Amino acid sequence: MDCLFCKIVKGDIPANILFEDDDVIAFEDIMPKAPTHFLVIPKRHISTLNDLTDEDAPVVGKLQITAAKIAKQKGISDAGYRVVMNCNEMGGQTVYHIHMHVLGGRAMTWPPG
Ligand code: 5GP
Repeated sequence: MDCLFCKIVKGDIPANILFEDDDVIAFEDIMPKAPTHFLVIPKRHISTLNDLTDEDAPVVGKLQITAAKIAKQKGISDAGYRVVMNCNEMGGQTVYHIHMHVLGGRAMTWPPG
């Protein structure tokens, strides 16, 4: 399978890795949209949020908990940050391996574009 984020998981493509365990990996976004912008992904390939099953609940929970831990380490927790998961074309998804964006270090606007 030709998946960019699977290649990052395998170490075939370099990334600035912030955290890694058996289930998830977090790394800096290559084109940051905020002073802090990192991604948290499951190591197992899941193409879109539409492909999640009940069995994925633990890893999805782990994505959020990992995001919050790293946000704290990066010092953006108290000021606040945004978590985004894009799904399919209309949702703005460009990499088809689910990922949680964590953006901080500037004031966010609402509604998002
Ligand atoms: P999406 O648009 O699918 O929600 O988000 C994909 C994200 O992956 C984008 O923010 C984009 O900058 C990031 N990205 C794309 N290619 C790479 C890459 O090779 N390395 C890293 N670290 N991030 C990438």
